[in-house]
Amino acid sequence: MRIAVIPGDGIGKEVTEAAMLILENLDLPFEYVWLEAGDEAEKKYGKPLPDETLEEVKRCKAVLFGAAGETAADVIVKLRQELETYANVRPAKSFEGVKSIHKNVDMVIVRENTECLYKGIEFEVDGVAEAVRIISRKASERIVRFAFELAKREKRKRVTALHKANVMRKTCGLFKRVFYEVAREYERIEANDYYIDAACMYIAMDPWRFDVIVTTNMFGDIVSDLAAGIVGGLGLAPSANIGDEYAIFEPVHGAAFDIAGKGIANPTAMILTASMMLRHLGFEEEAKKVEKAVEKVLAEGKTTPDLGGNLKTMEMAEEILKAIE
Ligand code: ATP
Ligand code: MG
Repeated sequence: MRIAVIPGDGIGKEVTEAAMLILENLDLPFEYVWLEAGDEAEKKYGKPLPDETLEEVKRCKAVLFGAAGETAADVIVKLRQELETYANVRPAKSFEGVKSIHKNVDMVIVRENTECLYKGIEFEVDGVAEAVRIISRKASERIVRFAFELAKREKRKRVTALHKANVMRKTCGLFKRVFYEVAREYERIEANDYYIDAACMYIAMDPWRFDVIVTTNMFGDIVSDLAAGIVGGLGLAPSANIGDEYAIFEPVHGAAFDIAGKGIANPTAMILTASMMLRHLGFEEEAKKVEKAVEKVLAEGKTTPDLGGNLKTMEMAEEILKAIE
């Protein structure tokens, strides 16, 4: 199985090296294809996403992506489009031993990744700017079904739709309607919905009422950062972009040039991202092993400076590797 590995820029390179230490020490039938993209690739080849990278990526089953700096939009947004990864999956889970606003949080946010206000259809005429919000039945059904399938697979109890159907009656109205249509096919999973604003308050004050969240593109973007914020922040937040054919796995954080090159980036987000990739590719046992090891190391208070520890990036990766064995 071919896996594309794109370290990219800044701490992307450091956390990718850390995640690869873990992956290469597990017994996996993977062939890693190392590729370039990002600011440095643009300097070298004149394009942040070189043609060769894109061609090679399409011959791989999954992409493990570090981060891109200034060129992030040209790289990762383009990759998501080219590979038609319509679902953005971002778990928000609290860890023992990590200071966070809330404990015992374990939710997954499923965000539609292809339409809504992020389609980029905007105009400005005579001092009036307009943006078009596209919500289709097709994309809504696809993402809602994805969320219920995820809930079923991970034995989760509830899927909650977030929307603002009282104000955006057509767009959110359609999304909400499709949500309950699809929900009927999943009798064993509870379905409910909230207005996006109320949901934000609940994520801040009572996050335990959420299990799987499904929502449209922009709401999903915002609530997933909110959810990451209550459980410990960027150093711990993994994500996946999933389509029918391809999938891209990347930490939520970016290139973080302020700490790049110092070897102090927290590799946990990227290692948990690699674990999501393992699960997606059918290596559930290995995925669990990695997660358990991360939990163990964090619980022992071993971590990088961002979470108050004194480990270097690779030292933390080695601790996690030791905890696997
Ligand atoms: P982007 O523009 O792609 O979001 P960015 O350069 O704004 O990237 P982020 O990577 O999103 O930066 O992170 C914001 C800040 O959070 C960083 O400047 C850094 O200090 C901190 N940070 C992010 N990721 C990590 C990490 N893995 N370990 C430690 N600190 C991190
Ligand atoms: Mg940022």
